[in-house]
Amino acid sequence: MLKLNFPGSVLLLLVACGFSHSPCCAVVGGERVTLTLIAQKYHLKTPINQPDKVTLRGNHMELSFKSQSRMFHANGVLMSLGFSTEVKDGKLCVAHSDYIAHICPFFSAKQRQNAAQKTIIVLDPGHGGRADGAISATGLKEKVATLDICQKAAQLLAKQGYVVYLTRDSDAHIELDDRTKFANQKFAKVFVSVHCNAAESKLAHGIETFALTPYGQPSQRKAKSPQAELKRYYSNKFDGENLMLAYNVQKALLRKTRSADRGVRHARFHVLKNLNCPGILVECGFLSNAVEGKKFASSCYRQTLAQAIADGITAFLR
Ligand SMILES: [Zn+2]
Repeated sequence: MLKLNFPGSVLLLLVACGFSHSPCCAVVGGERVTLTLIAQKYHLKTPINQPDKVTLRGNHMELSFKSQSRMFHANGVLMSLGFSTEVKDGKLCVAHSDYIAHICPFFSAKQRQNAAQKTIIVLDPGHGGRADGAISATGLKEKVATLDICQKAAQLLAKQGYVVYLTRDSDAHIELDDRTKFANQKFAKVFVSVHCNAAESKLAHGIETFALTPYGQPSQRKAKSPQAELKRYYSNKFDGENLMLAYNVQKALLRKTRSADRGVRHARFHVLKNLNCPGILVECGFLSNAVEGKKFASSCYRQTLAQAIADGITAFLR
């Protein structure tokens, strides 16, 4: 069982979000907050409100939760929590740190104005050079597909007035640290690393988008060491924005491609740890899957992916 343990800075965040004296369910391992209390705080409607199923509905945003689950839906997009929901005293609760990391950003997003003008976006085509990445059954290399998707997305974003840089625009090997440094040196406002997935099971398919695991939360991917799970990384200061960028890009990709939704997930990927802006890593589908591998070979499909990534970024910046 995971033990909830809030470091001082997370507790400060809790105070900042107005739940310092909230009537939480006290549970072993840490505090929990009821979803009805969150609804009250943000003046949200709860059209479906049963002990094991709660929906929070605000302007243009609907979050649906069920009991005993580490997943929830945001406007239909599958999202992950650090800890399982549970029913306490007849009310569905989430961990306080999940409220801060995964729910708060949806209802306290900052409005941005004049976003397009001179906003710098860095797109990062995964792999390159001696690092081929995944390879499809027909021989398409991930490094080739990701470069093309990023070049296409860059063109679409540039047409809208954004200033777009690619971490590589040829078949070059770039270290992960250098990709992050490049984005920081360009004063990027958004960083998106684009990848194609692969799995031993040829059946695995669908799209997933990773944000850096919020501080104090467990990752979906197994950490290299327990210490890595406890560390605060530089990019953790963008936890809320990372989540919203991931949500918007995942949503746009699902809408454009109709692919299976593998969810917004969290991992402490090296390329996301030290960014000075919100950043995500997108896995646009499985090259190892026969159907998706074949789609990636189509320039038209890569254009669709590029359009979706561009749409997701602009929705985030709006
Ligand atoms: Zn990759």
